[in-house]
Formats: sequence, structure tokens, C-alpha cells
Amino acid sequence: MAFECTCCGECCMRIMIKNEGKQYVEQLRQEQAERNKKGPVYYLTPVEERAFWLYEWEMEGYKESAKMLGLKIGFNPVRAIYDELGKTWMVLSWSLDSDKCPFVDDKFRCRVYQERSLVCHSFPVNVKLFAQLAGGSRQIDDPLGIRCPVVPREKFNKSLKAFAEEYGDAFRAAYESYVTELTFMRAINSQIARFPMRVKVHSGPIPQDRKNVQPAIAYLTGLGVLPKGFEKDLVKFASSEAERLIKQLKAGEPYQILR
Ligand code: SF4
Ligand code: SF4
Repeated sequence: MAFECTCCGECCMRIMIKNEGKQYVEQLRQEQAERNKKGPVYYLTPVEERAFWLYEWEMEGYKESAKMLGLKIGFNPVRAIYDELGKTWMVLSWSLDSDKCPFVDDKFRCRVYQERSLVCHSFPVNVKLFAQLAGGSRQIDDPLGIRCPVVPREKFNKSLKAFAEEYGDAFRAAYESYVTELTFMRAINSQIARFPMRVKVHSGPIPQDRKNVQPAIAYLTGLGVLPKGFEKDLVKFASSEAERLIKQLKAGEPYQILR
């Protein structure tokens, strides 16, 4: 690994976006306000009240762990699509609703280390790295977590192979997270397009209705739009895709980032 974690707790104790600095928060707020004017994916919780994103199955896993450990836990819905037919928000990603993660112990260690979310697992590698690479960008200027005091503040001027070797598991988890996001959105879009009579996706200004807010996969599986076990297949696919990329990088073969 390219850095030694000192267990300062920063990445688990102050997890809300409000800690990232006024300029960043304002920029994100404006971007999301623009998106909320047209959809079809809307942001339901203000930037300041959000932490890192979690997929539905990760949220469910955290709920289970909190129950077993006797901890209080809460979530906010983040990105969501509105189904006009069912008058329901289908939530694609969630956030913890606290600034301190409930799983961090008093020595700043993670109590669910083996089951932590992909975002936690990939820290300090920024998942956006892959979106930028896939988009053909040459300006990879933010490949690492921004508030860790010991992560080197380097620009991304190395080969992907060198980066993968330095950041090991975190690199792999970041790629898995990128693949999950990409595949998840594609599957949802294509499945909804195949079942237009069951779900009608709203676009245009954000609907004011907030009565029904449901996890997207559970909702769409219930309607028969997504197959049962969808998330398990998705996780398996992301993991095998990461395996492929790492193998190719290690062997010095030409590699392909999923687009
Ligand atoms: S789940 Fe674990 S690694 Fe992730 S923020 Fe909480 S304590 Fe930190
Ligand atoms: S911010 Fe960096 S040094 Fe501090 S606990 Fe997180 S990874 Fe370790």
C-alpha cells in the first residue's frame, strides 16, 4: 500500500459531505439543483446532510450488523427515480444520516471491517478515476481520497498498473464500485424500457410528492421488472470484471475499462 493508515479516524468520524469545504459543497449543490430541474435521476437529500453512498444491499447489510451490535443507524435516500404510475420514489443509492459512522469504535477501528461497503473498502482510491479514464479524459487530477492526512497528494501521473500495485485491494474495490454503478444504471434503464406499462419514469422538475420512498431493487423486483437475485449477480459480475482487469494489468496485457 502507498500509505500507512494512522487510525486518525478522519474518514470514519466526519463522513458527511459538509466537511469537504465550502467551495466543494457549493459546487455540488449547484450541480444537483440543476439535475433536479430535469431528472430523471433526482437528489432527494441536501448535499450537507449526506455521507458516502451505499447501495441498497449494503444498506441492508449495515442494518443487520447494527442490529447485531445493538447500534442505532439511520439512512437518507440520495439518488432516486420517480415512478409516475406507482407514485413511488425508487431509490438507487443511500447515505448514512450521521456525521460519525456508527461502526467506528473508540480506537477509530471499523467494527464491520469484513463487511464494509465498497466505498469504505476502496478508500482512498476515488471511484471517479475510472469514469474519467473510461471517458477518455487525460486529466486524472483527483484519484485519491481528499481528507486523509497521510495519503500522498499526488497527481495521477503513473500507469494504471503502478497505481493498481500501490493501492491493491482499494484499487480493486474502486473498480468494482465503478462497474457496479455502471451496470446497475444500465440494467435499470433497459429493464424499465422493456416494461413501460408497469413503471413510468418521470422527467422534468422534481416532483414534490415524498410519500412513498422505496429501495429501487426491492420495488422493481416486486413489480417483476427486475429478476430475483439481481443484486447478487451484479456483485458477482463486478467482482469478476475487477479480477479480469487486475489480471490483465499484472500480465502487462492491453486492458479495457468497462464503458
Ligand atoms: S463502515 Fe467502517 S470503514 Fe466505513 S465509515 Fe464506518 S467505520 Fe469507517
Ligand atoms: S483518514 Fe487516512 S489515516 Fe485517517 S483513519 Fe482514514 S485512512 Fe487512516
